[in-house]
Amino acid sequence: MKILVINCGSSSLKYQIIDSESEKCIAKGLCERIGIEGSQITYKPEGGEKEVTEAPMPTHTQAIQLVLDAITNKKTGVLSNLSEIGAVGHRIVHGGEKFAASTIINDDVMAAIEECNELAPLHNPANLIGIRACQELMPNTPMVAVFDTAFHQTMPPEAYMYGIPYEYYEKYKVRKYGFHGTSHAYVAHRAAEMLGRDFNSMKTIVCHLGNGASVSAVKNGKCVDTSMGMTPLAGLMMGTRSGSVDPYVVELLSEKEHLTIAETEDILNKKSGVYGLSGYLSSDFRDLETAASKGNKKAELAMKAFAYRVVKFIGSYIAVMNGVDAICFTAGVGENSPIIRTMVCNYLTFLGITLDQEENLRRGDEVDITTKDSKVKVLVIPTNEELAIARETYDLVK
Ligand code: ADP
Repeated sequence: MKILVINCGSSSLKYQIIDSESEKCIAKGLCERIGIEGSQITYKPEGGEKEVTEAPMPTHTQAIQLVLDAITNKKTGVLSNLSEIGAVGHRIVHGGEKFAASTIINDDVMAAIEECNELAPLHNPANLIGIRACQELMPNTPMVAVFDTAFHQTMPPEAYMYGIPYEYYEKYKVRKYGFHGTSHAYVAHRAAEMLGRDFNSMKTIVCHLGNGASVSAVKNGKCVDTSMGMTPLAGLMMGTRSGSVDPYVVELLSEKEHLTIAETEDILNKKSGVYGLSGYLSSDFRDLETAASKGNKKAELAMKAFAYRVVKFIGSYIAVMNGVDAICFTAGVGENSPIIRTMVCNYLTFLGITLDQEENLRRGDEVDITTKDSKVKVLVIPTNEELAIARETYDLVK
């Protein structure tokens, strides 16, 4: 079966066609600037040339129509007609407490996702627009919602409750939810497979370090804690997000810089993290590594502070799980930065971790970067959220 995977944002939309049998991506691409002037669609069939075409996309429905046209194009398409698409899998950012697993989309599910809009006002409404646009163009194709928050729903209350009056949880559902769940679940499963271990009887820490970054603790097949919170702003320092800071910082910055709360939050979301700490040098670790190697002290500080926070979460999750079998690195930084991995692992020699420096330099593969005698395994596992969404979708509709 061919599965169309859709990750819909407010002005962009990523898509992939995945064959559920071979688990290969047979075409993928991106629509950018939807609803804005200068919109364009990128399309790349497997083994073929990437095409970038400017085309008007006033709405998401038009964007998805262009995607469907591209994948069924007589010359460069990968499908002969749309009926070959057996199902559509949608990435949904927030499922609140309602969804602990993926689900087939019907009217009740749409209403329940809409109820979570308040928890993710930037993401969920866009995800819903993507579903509606697909429903309009493919009314007879089953659709599945795969939630970023679902994998973390197994956390116990002592992990997800904040130390604030209980009534705010009851009234407004204020608690930790966690994100990147599809990636954490995929990587934790792959770690068990790589090590030939039973997923349901091992302790794994997954470090998803991309532009957004989070760490999770997975014990006996269940997520028991994760670093992001009610929103993706909490936890680790990230590319441009501050991660957790003393809440009083918000009041102080608002007052001194004459900003509203929303403007201050914007700074914490878009101008902070390693970007802000490096003196607005860059949010990209490649730039920071280059600058640091040339002696830029702020770039070096940003990298050190980033790695330090990763270590603190790893340490606390080892305590929470009373041990660890494998620590996994994934996403842009986790997969591609031997320097950050080394900076993190240098703190962890007490665990009997010894890095194999040659393996640590490999790129793009699943690899164990520890020496044979290392007591805890450190794995680099490229994440594949689209494949995970396609699998979940296929399992529900097959
Ligand atoms: P997103 O959260 O946007 O999905 P990604 O997981 O794609 O992010 O990660 C993107 C980040 O990965 C970049 O901003 C950059 O910091 C980092 N990155 C990518 N390639 C490298 C590399 N070769 N070395 C170091 N960092 C890298």
